[in-house]
Amino acid sequence: VQAAFQRDLSYLLELIGSGKESLIFMKKRIRHLTAQWLKASHKLEEKLQGKQRDQKQILIHIGFLTEESGDVFSPRVLKGGPLGEMVQWADILAVLFILGHSLKITVSLKELQSNLGVPPGRGNCPLTVPLPFDLIYTDYHGLQQMKQHMGLSFKKYRCRVRVIDTFGTEPAYNHEEYATLHGYRTNWGYWNLNPKQFMTMFPHTPDNSFMGFVSEELNQTEKQLIKSNKANNMAVVYGKEASIWKGKETFLAILNKYMEIHGTVYYETQRPPEVPAFVKNHGLLPQHEFQQLLRKAKLFIGFGFPYEGPAPLEAIANGCVFLQARFNPPHSSLNHEFFRGKPTSREVSSQHPYAEDFIGRPHVWTVDYNNSEEFEAAIKAIMRTKVDPYLPYEYTSEGMLERIHAYIQYQVAELFVLHSASPFSPQPNSTNLAWPHSSSSSPAFWPPVNSMQVWVSIPGQACTRTCQQHGLVCEPEFFKFINKKEVFQQINIVCDSTESEMNHLYPAVAENVHECYLQKDPLLFSCAGYNTKYQRLCPCRDYRRGQVALCRDCL
Ligand code: UDP
Repeated sequence: VQAAFQRDLSYLLELIGSGKESLIFMKKRIRHLTAQWLKASHKLEEKLQGKQRDQKQILIHIGFLTEESGDVFSPRVLKGGPLGEMVQWADILAVLFILGHSLKITVSLKELQSNLGVPPGRGNCPLTVPLPFDLIYTDYHGLQQMKQHMGLSFKKYRCRVRVIDTFGTEPAYNHEEYATLHGYRTNWGYWNLNPKQFMTMFPHTPDNSFMGFVSEELNQTEKQLIKSNKANNMAVVYGKEASIWKGKETFLAILNKYMEIHGTVYYETQRPPEVPAFVKNHGLLPQHEFQQLLRKAKLFIGFGFPYEGPAPLEAIANGCVFLQARFNPPHSSLNHEFFRGKPTSREVSSQHPYAEDFIGRPHVWTVDYNNSEEFEAAIKAIMRTKVDPYLPYEYTSEGMLERIHAYIQYQVAELFVLHSASPFSPQPNSTNLAWPHSSSSSPAFWPPVNSMQVWVSIPGQACTRTCQQHGLVCEPEFFKFINKKEVFQQINIVCDSTESEMNHLYPAVAENVHECYLQKDPLLFSCAGYNTKYQRLCPCRDYRRGQVALCRDCL
């Protein structure tokens, strides 16, 4: 069946149901962004020029909202609990609905079971009917529930699952045997899924798929209005929980010399003791009112926590400058409590690395907060700079619709299909193998192979970084094309020996000893990861401006 854009969002709101605070929050958000979604859907429809799109049967099981997983969030929605997840799920629902797919939404174990065809009271039995869904979007909680209640069919159908996974899951942690043998086993990881099935909030490691969310968009008139109404000396502090203010007196005192400080910290009756008296605390605001506050403010300031949430993008989209702390050394699961046990070794170089790396100045200032002179100088400089509201394309409604459309239409078939034969021959005599256009690309491959360029990393560098340095992005789908003995020759690497082993850093070469290594298990192909012993072979690809998830010919 051909999918047709659906624009009557009232039907979606009905599907979502009601009762929980979290559902109310999501519905309010969808209602508020309706006009923006509709406009974007028309733009995408025009762009796709009537291209065939298949309608999918999709189950969306929001595991963290089920009582069985403790539904820790619903009661906290009104208290500023992690709204970031809710924001993302609301946007995912909107996207899947607007793209014209047929949706079932479940937020309890009972509903999940009945939709999966598990007979009541027989939790561990296999499904009685073939799985009626082409795709299942869920989270780690939901994944666990499905495994428990689908019996053997979980294994059979798990390739249809997509896991919403804020911070990402790197291949070394996903591969059960490898994780167990090499100390990458965590509470969350080792599901042996294709790493692309994990969908992140920001484009972290390209081993996973970047799902994202959207921010409110402004038209020219609104942008002008915002610029003329900015209060140059008004700052809003990032974070809804009182704990983030602890120990920040020095910064607050410096900031207070120049600006009026506003906060949106949740409180019940009294001002939280962590928030100094000179701060104007609004309490937790409805999302729409929070946006209004950002429109007036000049500065949105982070004190190191929460990590990587939506709010800084919203602030920048509303014309604020975002000032945040650089983390030196970077925070990661190896050295920081918050990330401990998360299935990634990613090094987080600031409170919001996406803002730092993908946006940067003049919108984003990442400074060393241990140096109070640097901190103070930044505030003074920010007060003097004029910035326009800015939102990267991938966080607009059109950008998100476009990206998810591409995943649904093209990514599906590729998951778990491992091709042994390469559809082309690489060109020799260069460290950078640029594959010739046209003849080599086959529509069966997505992303198309003509977007590939192969680079060799310097020792101790991850492919994520290597590709980035060449203005490209690492594409794990392409590892299968370069995991070959001939490729080493073609890029003039001399191998005295070539071995094939399980190691998430392979294919790679230990240059000084002329030992070459191939990857034995395709499930371990990984853009992330480095070791000073190896120079890695990196499959990079181009990407669309403002849409890093898609290559130029990817639509
Ligand atoms: N937000 C809100 N009211 C407030 C402050 C924030 O509704 O007073 C919203 C904000 O618009 C953002 C969401 O909460 O979309 C998540 O914010 P944050 O970046 O702090 O991420 P979290 O830590 O909640 O995941």
